[in-house]
Amino acid sequence: MKPTFKGEEHSRGLKPAADREIPLARPNVTPAEIDAVVEVLRTPNLSLGPKVGEFEQAFARAVGVREAVAVSSGTAALHVLIRALGIGPGDEVVTTPFSFVASANCVLYERATPVFADIDAETWNIDPAKIEAAVTPRTKAILPVDVFGQPADFDAIRDIARRHKLVIIEDSCEALGAAYQGVRAGALGDAGVFGFYPNKQITTGEGGMITTNDADLAAMCRSLRNQGRDAGAGWLAHPRLGFNYRLPDINCALGLAQLRRLDELLSARARVAEWYIEELPVGGGCGTGISPPTAGLLQLQRIAPNVRMSWFVFVVRLADPFTEQDRDRVLSGLRSAGIGCSNYFAPIHLQPYIRELGGYRPGDFPVCEAVASRTIALPFHHELTRDDVRRVVAELCSLLA
Ligand SMILES: *Cc1c(COP(=O)(O)O)cnc(C)c1O
Repeated sequence: MKPTFKGEEHSRGLKPAADREIPLARPNVTPAEIDAVVEVLRTPNLSLGPKVGEFEQAFARAVGVREAVAVSSGTAALHVLIRALGIGPGDEVVTTPFSFVASANCVLYERATPVFADIDAETWNIDPAKIEAAVTPRTKAILPVDVFGQPADFDAIRDIARRHKLVIIEDSCEALGAAYQGVRAGALGDAGVFGFYPNKQITTGEGGMITTNDADLAAMCRSLRNQGRDAGAGWLAHPRLGFNYRLPDINCALGLAQLRRLDELLSARARVAEWYIEELPVGGGCGTGISPPTAGLLQLQRIAPNVRMSWFVFVVRLADPFTEQDRDRVLSGLRSAGIGCSNYFAPIHLQPYIRELGGYRPGDFPVCEAVASRTIALPFHHELTRDDVRRVVAELCSLLA
């Protein structure tokens, strides 16, 4: 029950324990990670040292691919792939408007054109039928995103790619540990991409990874991340235009220690997701048996039967009668109760610069917009307790009632 003196307690700075802040996301770093980082700091190899290869090999094994290339962020990984695949001015890449902006920005960095295909209303992943309709003679690649940790519909996507001779870049940044028909995320296209920002399943602070079975593509990515140098050639020999997208050994050591804990991290996240699914009033009452008028007002992402989910964030969608204004009111209500939350995602085609570039208007991708305007990401990380989840759900229910 909510204490009626809550406001007073806040004003006196005496927050009751039950009202401590619950953050939206939080990295999970143990002494093992701290020791691994400190160990690197005692060596002279802070970059381009042995931890890079160790992290890459362990990561390739975890995803089930032959090659992994560590870079400085998930965005850098996407950019390097677009460049390595020779995608440039005049080329089109079909991708989803319901994603983090990096999955479209990487195409713009190379002066190519992102072409959006709307999403499925229930899985929130790119809709293969809309991809098919978006393909033109200029299309070079399909860039699906494994949204919130659910692999996209790869059977259908691979079929389209085969028929039109397109390469598939899988943005698997949110899906480390997920699988589609037993094949792990990151191994589902011609190349996969991961990011290790602190809200991801594993973190390196900042960092990213490219995964592929194509050794030539991996070699080109290694050159591009390192100023266009070739392996084993001189420090000042640059056969091509490259970038400094290297991931320091300090970060690689952190990533290696996190990767060793992957199963533990993923199962803790899955447990929290299970608690939300049990507590949320989806199709029923508010988990308390009181059956409040919130039944049926929330929807969850539909998980396709042939995927294994790796939970990245936990998102609820308000049902259609709710408006974007209602959603924003719920967000600010949760925040004033000390509960971290966010809209997830904002449609990419409506970001001001992309809107201007592509001449987009509200209504262009109606399914994406209908979902994006009603989503709420709830606190989701390793350290949440069942009581935290109950408090979040109770607050959400009272804001919807
Ligand atoms: C996290 C993420 C990225 C990469 O982000 P960085 O911050 O550059 O590591 C790319 N695409 C999606 C869908 C993401 O969620």
